Amino acid sequence: MPLYETESFVLKSYDLADADRIVVFFTREHGIVRGVAKGVKRLKSRFGALLEPFSVVDLTFFHKEDRELVNIQSVELVRSSFEAASELAYLSTFSYIAELLSTFAPPNDPNEKLYRMVKAVSEIKASNERELAAVRAYFELWLLRLGGYWPELKACAACGREISDTEETMTDSSFRIFCCNCRQVKGNRTLSPEIRRLFGDIQARSPNDFVTACPATQVVLAEASAIMQRMLEAAAGRTIRVPQFAGDRSHTR
Ligand SMILES: [Zn+2]
Repeated sequence: MPLYETESFVLKSYDLADADRIVVFFTREHGIVRGVAKGVKRLKSRFGALLEPFSVVDLTFFHKEDRELVNIQSVELVRSSFEAASELAYLSTFSYIAELLSTFAPPNDPNEKLYRMVKAVSEIKASNERELAAVRAYFELWLLRLGGYWPELKACAACGREISDTEETMTDSSFRIFCCNCRQVKGNRTLSPEIRRLFGDIQARSPNDFVTACPATQVVLAEASAIMQRMLEAAAGRTIRVPQFAGDRSHTR
């Protein structure tokens, strides 16, 4: 039974039986890994405090070829998300990111670019809700791009004309873009110049630069995220749950 060691993010964990928990990791070298942590609910367990969402850990595990779940051998903390994770807005943003990752990152398949992007996003010092909304939008767009789902938004899908920076556009249910002359088709949704500028900004800037320097308001960021959530759901073929933590932190600890 081969033994592996890899840096990884803790994404989430849930109860299995008795004192055991299933833990979902996003690893640098093996993509998504699901493993069993034994005895995690017992007081002073060797795993307990390490399993905060978005803690960075060195994970060692055994993997039998025919098993979906790996056996966790050890988890060593590299960087804790403890302080930040006690903020509800931080927790809900990163739980959503964890949900997206466990949906889109394939199991037991490394993706170095995606790992580096997640790491950069996790290191952003977001200090308020607007910045967290920017973190979320940044992550969504790059997840779509790295997954090959980002739509072509430069030229009109009907007449082929290049879209100008200021014109009002619409997209259809497949996220094809239509210029100001071709846009009025039933069922199409508005895609404003402001949102397109935001999409351009995300692709042109580093995560930290985008989050701290982008001029977009929280309302515009939320509108952009709503559009990208629809793209992500279309790509996943299902609804993606946005975790809510209103006033309840108990189940996250
Ligand atoms: Zn057109």
